Amino acid sequence: MCESKPDWTPSSWRTKPFAQAVAYPDDAKLEQVLAKIKSLPPLVTPSEIERLREQVAAVQRDEAFLLHAGDCAESFDACTHANLTSKLGLILSVSLILIWGGRLPIVRVGRIAGQYAKPRSSPTELVDVDGVKKEVPSFRGDNVNGLDPAERTPDPERLLAAYFHSAATLNYLRALLASGFASLDHPRTWSLAHVRSPELRAEFSAITAALSDALDFSRVIGLSPSSASTSPLDEVDFYTSHEGLMLGYEEALTRAFPQGAGSAKINSHQQGGTEKQKQKEKQEQEQTDNAEGTPSHAYNTSAHFLWIGDRTRQLRGAHVEYFRGLRNPVGVKVGPSMGGAEIVELLDILNPDKEPGRVTLITRYGAGKVAEHLPTHIRAVRASGHPVAWVCDPMHGNTQTTPAGIKTRHFGTILAELTASFRIHAECGQRLQGVSLEFTGELNEEGFSVTECLGGSMGLREEQLSLRYQTFCDPRLNFEQSLDLAFAVSDYLRK
Ligand code: PEP
Ligand code: MN
Repeated sequence: MCESKPDWTPSSWRTKPFAQAVAYPDDAKLEQVLAKIKSLPPLVTPSEIERLREQVAAVQRDEAFLLHAGDCAESFDACTHANLTSKLGLILSVSLILIWGGRLPIVRVGRIAGQYAKPRSSPTELVDVDGVKKEVPSFRGDNVNGLDPAERTPDPERLLAAYFHSAATLNYLRALLASGFASLDHPRTWSLAHVRSPELRAEFSAITAALSDALDFSRVIGLSPSSASTSPLDEVDFYTSHEGLMLGYEEALTRAFPQGAGSAKINSHQQGGTEKQKQKEKQEQEQTDNAEGTPSHAYNTSAHFLWIGDRTRQLRGAHVEYFRGLRNPVGVKVGPSMGGAEIVELLDILNPDKEPGRVTLITRYGAGKVAEHLPTHIRAVRASGHPVAWVCDPMHGNTQTTPAGIKTRHFGTILAELTASFRIHAECGQRLQGVSLEFTGELNEEGFSVTECLGGSMGLREEQLSLRYQTFCDPRLNFEQSLDLAFAVSDYLRK
């Protein structure tokens, strides 16, 4: 399967201890579903995956900034025209603000088109059934069981449903991007119409107007493609990702290909790329596709980027075993329980040849713990010589429960971990290279954003949380709070 890793196969994880295992009532049925998924086409292509590897390598060299963002977990019901449009719109809006502040290309990786499974801290949970508290198996995500307490038995058919929902999602995202949705003429339709704060609207409109002007200018003086109908943002690179938790599913979509083989990339217009560069890329692509004897790699074709969660990163565990054989760029969540020596051992396993573009470390300690752990991890990784992209996830270490029992996060705490991370990286003589956020552009029927996180410029208060609390997993920043955070990050990038 993978010539460069002779002791690895897509199924070698099966002999290792498996954290967060799902107990299916019928293993034969599970294998039957997995065999079907194995026969289905890839969702993404090796050449797209290779392209993202190159872009992550650019992030590692401080030549680009990574935006990893989306829902904590997608649901099958949320796979609708309106939701997908506003999710993509929010990611594009935030990336535009970051481009403006950082004057850097943004590598956009959505938590989308496959982010269904959730790790849980307990196998069971207490739920309200007709006013009575009942202990039932925990909800593990739409690809495992149902949120309805009556549907908590894991059903393998849900993995197949996850494949088709991912395919439908990806198809629509590709179609939107190929139709010019990312064009600077569109920001008004990226659900900005629903932002109620006049200051936020004005700030965002000023940026898009200035960017449009800058692009027009560079087109006039011949610095960017001259075609009147295309701006560098008419089509943008956009990548998909999810936590690689359900290894049977991931194995079924792991395919051997010669390096970078496959059909067209997710787009043809790289931001700022010249016609000459594109021609060169095309030639290289043709050579790769025709190459004989090119060593084959194992590509996970369910998403461009996958990450290992903080609960499944055991050095000798099944997840690390599976991930070590992949060619995809991978992320590792790094929480306070990760040791300095352990992080290097993990990097040695995942990236023994220290290849650029392969590993992204997504740190998530909590605002109160970042100063204690991040410097240790930075020092250990630097001493090891491992190339990594340093990304801050200011969400997962900052979840709290209100006295009324609602799971939430405070904008101020999220911002505190983020700004501390910027500062600590700078003190260590390097840069924070990306952010990983849980946000949503989702609106209710009346066009209002969700109310799941506290604070932000809208000053959301505890008693307002239940107004439009729609997540069935972790609390997400809403549209306005996400723009607030984007402006804050953008300010840091400008410094
Ligand atoms: C997540 O990113 O949704 C998640 C569960 O993160 P972590 O593994 O860092 O807790
Ligand atoms: Mn989450």
